[in-house]
Amino acid sequence: MGKTYYCDYCDRFFKDDVEARKKHLSSMQHVANRESHYRMYKDPETILKEVYSKTPCKRFMTVGDCAFGYGCRFSHYTPQMIWELEQLAATRTSKAATAQPRDGWPDSEDVIREYLEHAAVSSGTEEKTPVWGPSPAVGRSYLPPSLQPVTPDKMMECHFSKWA
Ligand SMILES: [Zn+2]
Ligand SMILES: [Zn+2]
Repeated sequence: MGKTYYCDYCDRFFKDDVEARKKHLSSMQHVANRESHYRMYKDPETILKEVYSKTPCKRFMTVGDCAFGYGCRFSHYTPQMIWELEQLAATRTSKAATAQPRDGWPDSEDVIREYLEHAAVSSGTEEKTPVWGPSPAVGRSYLPPSLQPVTPDKMMECHFSKWA
């Protein structure tokens, strides 16, 4: 068995001689695979620039399929896809703009410290009920049974009917 070489783009092994390699590298399938491989690393702005510079592929637009795939020298992007790319490019640029001024933000440690100080002050004066506990006994009896606080007595009162 002779030497083989592996093509990353096509995820296939090939016989490694000059002719076979040349033939593969110029094959339609390989060009298409390589193109779609790089497409993943391109930003929408770059893709859009390419799309704008290409004329729509007649075959792809009418038949919905073109053997050249992404390697086609005509554009396979539908108006819908172009619109999506434009949206994507727009959100990316706005994200980049808002991500910049991070310096003025308060330090998260300061925020936590401030919160804890406030919590300590207010718990000193008020009744010590945990925030997740039942509210002070105002109109508690009007609550539906499911919302009334559970006490050991209540637990004993319960008569669970058996599962049928
Ligand atoms: Zn290949
Ligand atoms: Zn095409």
